[in-house]
Amino acid sequence: MSRKKDRDAPPPVPERLPTPAVDAHTHLDACGDGTAADVTALLDRAGRAGIERVVTVADDLAAARWAAEAATWDERVFAAVAIHPTRTADFGDVEKAEIERLAAAERVVAVGETGLDYYWDYSRPDAQQEAFRWHIDLAKRIGKPLMIHDREAHEDLLRILEEEGAPDTVVFHCFSGDADMARRCVDAGYVLSFAGTVTFRNAKGLHEAAKLVPPEHYLVETDAPFLTPHPFRGRPNEPYCAAYTVQGLAELRGEPVDVVADSVRSNAERVFGLPSSQTVTST
Ligand SMILES: [Zn+2]
Repeated sequence: MSRKKDRDAPPPVPERLPTPAVDAHTHLDACGDGTAADVTALLDRAGRAGIERVVTVADDLAAARWAAEAATWDERVFAAVAIHPTRTADFGDVEKAEIERLAAAERVVAVGETGLDYYWDYSRPDAQQEAFRWHIDLAKRIGKPLMIHDREAHEDLLRILEEEGAPDTVVFHCFSGDADMARRCVDAGYVLSFAGTVTFRNAKGLHEAAKLVPPEHYLVETDAPFLTPHPFRGRPNEPYCAAYTVQGLAELRGEPVDVVADSVRSNAERVFGLPSSQTVTST
């Protein structure tokens, strides 16, 4: 096999984690062809690495309908729905009504991803902020966790959460802050979800954040198909790759892999209200 082909190939499925974990944020529709058979194949591969359940996340209306539907195909799949901050330029009554309807479904376990993205300029900051405030209110009204997308917007996010009054459960998906931001989030009671970026060698601030976060305040996610963990950066990402991030997080924290995997599982069960894994695990 050529070197080039090696670099484009999916990472190998790692050895199964000693105890099952959860991928708290992925985009199954973007990982494959979007069919029920494909979702089953993705979850079977994930299961071989010990990633037994996933939350598949929507960023627009079509993806929200798909995610809510996909969560009914396979008991290992749960969904989160919202309009992504970069898609809020035309956020209006149609979007609100449909997201509200989908978010109420039993297998939709979070409102997300919502938040602020000041890196891209597809939607003006004031439009993003208005949509974010609406999603905060929705999460509170239906009693589901808020899953936040934060790109270069730490201060405005923390401020708006405080102004609106945060929902009981707030998850910073693909946490991208440093030690100080992590401390502020933990103090506010928020949960930090670490993606493959935490395993990147140059992510020093993120490494510090990962070390200090208390055991009940973190999750692990892939955000697949992007952000593939080290040493497979740039290759296609899938839920099974969350196992590499669990291992990386354990290494950073100086803790056994089974301890970190078990925290990820129990935190995901608490945060998203998932059934206790004993009821879905066959082994
Ligand atoms: Zn995402």
